[in-house]
Amino acid sequence: MTTLPLPFDGHSVSDATRAFLQRDHLLFIDGAWRDASGDGWMETRDPATGLVAARFAIGEAADVNAAVVAARNAFDGGWARSQPAYRAALLRRLADLMQRDAQMLAELEVIDSGMPLFIASLTVSNCTEMLHYYAGLAGTIEGTTTTPPAHVTHDAEAITYTLREPVGVTAHIIPWNVPLSMAVLKLAPSLAAGCTAIVKPSEETPLTALALADLIAEAGFPAGVVNIVNGTGGTVGAALAGHPGIDKVAFTGSTATGRRIVEAALGNLKKVTLELGGKSPVVVMPDADLALAIPGVAMATYFLGGQNCMAGTRIFAHADIHDALVDGLVAFSQSMVVDHGLAPGCQIGPMVSPAHGAKVMGYIARGLCEGAVLRTGGERLDRPGSFIAPTIFTGTTPDMGIVQDEIFGPVMAVQSFDTLDIDAIAAMANNSPYGLSGSVWTTSLSSAHKIAARIRSGHVSINCHGAVAHNIPFGGYSQSGWGREFGRESLDNYLETKAVTARL
Ligand code: NAD
Repeated sequence: MTTLPLPFDGHSVSDATRAFLQRDHLLFIDGAWRDASGDGWMETRDPATGLVAARFAIGEAADVNAAVVAARNAFDGGWARSQPAYRAALLRRLADLMQRDAQMLAELEVIDSGMPLFIASLTVSNCTEMLHYYAGLAGTIEGTTTTPPAHVTHDAEAITYTLREPVGVTAHIIPWNVPLSMAVLKLAPSLAAGCTAIVKPSEETPLTALALADLIAEAGFPAGVVNIVNGTGGTVGAALAGHPGIDKVAFTGSTATGRRIVEAALGNLKKVTLELGGKSPVVVMPDADLALAIPGVAMATYFLGGQNCMAGTRIFAHADIHDALVDGLVAFSQSMVVDHGLAPGCQIGPMVSPAHGAKVMGYIARGLCEGAVLRTGGERLDRPGSFIAPTIFTGTTPDMGIVQDEIFGPVMAVQSFDTLDIDAIAAMANNSPYGLSGSVWTTSLSSAHKIAARIRSGHVSINCHGAVAHNIPFGGYSQSGWGREFGRESLDNYLETKAVTARL
C-alpha cells in the first residue's frame, strides 16, 4: 500500500473516506479483488487541488475476458432464473448499505469529480431511491397471452404466451460527470431484470464505483453478478464494446465515443443503448416570471459547473424581457460560490481535469473571436485546479461554435428573439444536432405545452429545467442517443421477449 498525502488540504472528511483513499484499488471480478493482468496503474486526482487522491489498477483485454467469463457463469449459474423477490431483496440491501455509507460515498464523489458536496449527497440518496424503485419493478416482470391464428396450429386449439427473459451479460460504460449515479442507474434495472454486469467507470473518476463494489459484496450478491473493471476507454471500453460474449452494452458519454461503441458492437450485433451529449434549448417567453426564471435559467447552465448532459446552454430570450433577464443572470452568476466541492456553500466546483478546463477556456476564446459579447466571467480563477467563473455571452447567433457545440462547462450563450410564432420558436430551439433536454419559461399554459410539444428532445421541463428522476424516462432524440433510461423503459432495455406457442 502506498501512503499518499491527503489531497483536500483544509477540508475535513470522514475517517472512512481517508482510509478508502489510502487503499490500493484493484479490479473487482467474480466477487473478489484481483490484480490487473498487465500490472498497469493510474492515479486519480482531486480536481480542485490537482493532487493525487488515490491509485487504481487498470485492466486490459485479458481482464475483460475474465470478467465476461465470471458474468456468464453467474448468469447461467442461477442469477438469470433467480426469484425476482431475491434480486429485489439484494437491491434493497444495497440501498441500505449505501445509505449507511452515504457520507463516505458523497465525499469520494467530490474528491474524484469536483462536484459540490450538496449535489454529491443528493446523488447518493437518488441512488438509494433508484435501487428501491427497481427492486419494486423486479416483481412486475410478466408476459402476456394471446390466441394464435388457427392456420399456424393447423386448426388445433392453441395458446401463445410471452416470457420476459434477461438479455444476458451486459457492459456498462460510464462517464465522469456523475459517476455513482451513472453506475447505479444502469446496474439497478439490469440486476432487477436478472442480467449480470461489467461496469467500466471513467478513468477520471473510478472511486465511487470501487466503493460500490465493496457494498455489492457486503450485500451478498453472488460472485460474478457485478464486476468492476477500471481502465482506459481505448482498452477496457473498446474490449467490452467489441466482446462477442457480451449481449448488451449500455453507454453514457460523448456522441463521438457513442459512434465508436456502435461500430465495435457490430461484430456480434449486441444490443446498444446510448445516452450521449446535449446542447439543450431554454426558451424564455415575454410573459415569463423572471423571479423564477433568473435562478432557474442560471442553474440550467451552471448545475455541475455545466458538466451536465442536460445543461441548458442555448438561451433564447424574447426581446421584451431580454435585458431584464440578462441583467438578472449576470447578477446571479457573479454571486455564485465557486470553490472546492467540500467548502461550505460551494455551488460550482472545478472542471474535472486541466485538459477539460483548457477545452472550456478554448470555447470562451472562440466565443470572443466569433463576436459574441462577454457579459460576465470568461476567466479562470487564480488558484490550483481548473475553476472557471460562470460565463455569459449575449449577441450570439445560431452558427457560432459556442452555440452549436457541447462545451460541458459553465458557459451560457444567449440569443434574442422577437416572435411569438410557435413554429419559428421551435425552429430556433431545434437548430442543433442534439435533442436531450430543454425548457420553456412562461406563465401561459398554452404556450408552455405548445412549445414543449414542438421541442425535439427526450425531455422538456416547463418553468424548471432538467427535472428528471429515476421514475421518469430519459434519453435523447437525434444525436443525443438511442433508447431511454430510468422508469419502466430502462427495465425493458434489459429484457428480451420470448413468445411460446402451444398446440393444446
Ligand atoms: P467519453 O465519451 O469521453 O467517455 C465515456 C466513457 O467511455 C468513459 O468510461 C471512457 O473511458 C469510455 N470510452 C472512451 N473511448 C472509448 C472507446 N473507444 N470504446 C469504449 N469506451 C470508450 O465521455 P466523458 O467525457 O466521460 O463524459 C462527457 C460526455 O458524456 C458528454 O458528452 C456528456 O453530454 C455525456 N453524458 C451524457 C449523459 C446522458 O445521459 N445523455 C449523461 C452524462 C454525460
